[in-house]
Amino acid sequence: MNEVNLGLRIAVYPGSFDPVTKGHMDIIQRAAKQFDRLVVAISNNTSKNPLFTVEERKTLLEQTTRHLPNVEIDTFQDLLVNYTIQKQAHVVVRGIRSVTDFEYEMQMASTNHKLNSEVETIFMMTNPKYSYLSSSVVKEIAHYQGEVADLVPDEVNEMLKLKYLERNRK
Ligand code: ADP
Repeated sequence: MNEVNLGLRIAVYPGSFDPVTKGHMDIIQRAAKQFDRLVVAISNNTSKNPLFTVEERKTLLEQTTRHLPNVEIDTFQDLLVNYTIQKQAHVVVRGIRSVTDFEYEMQMASTNHKLNSEVETIFMMTNPKYSYLSSSVVKEIAHYQGEVADLVPDEVNEMLKLKYLERNRK
């Protein structure tokens, strides 16, 4: 979407979402309440060797955010600050789980500030329930057929099962 911004407060929540977890969902739901529109932007970063294709990740996010009318799911390959401005947004939302996240996020936010000081990064603290939760943890458990139903939305749980069945058959 690239229409004229009629004073709407738009934020971008970027990430790999490989796949979306309940930790991401918690940030999405809380951020959606703070802005008129929230764009969840899946980075098409080929260097990360993802489990799910960008299209699969987009479909899963569309399914799991169906109930949130002001949330849009998109993909991007551009520099984040350029993409954010292109979406008529001036805020980037990131989640923080730990001190390790903080150090990495601070470096990213400072770099983005240097590239374009119009773009503000805001941080939301994790819901303590999900402070240990990451897409990598979920993939590790699912890979060994462990139970991830409490960690991801139902649609993701189903897709993970299919994905690993498919992989183990090869
Ligand atoms: P990236 O590869 O860009 O870090 P992720 O999909 O891993 O993408 O994460 C996207 C954002 O969501 C990051 O800001 C990350 O810190 C945040 N995040 C991931 N898991 C959680 C969680 N359990 N609680 C809060 N924030 C989270």
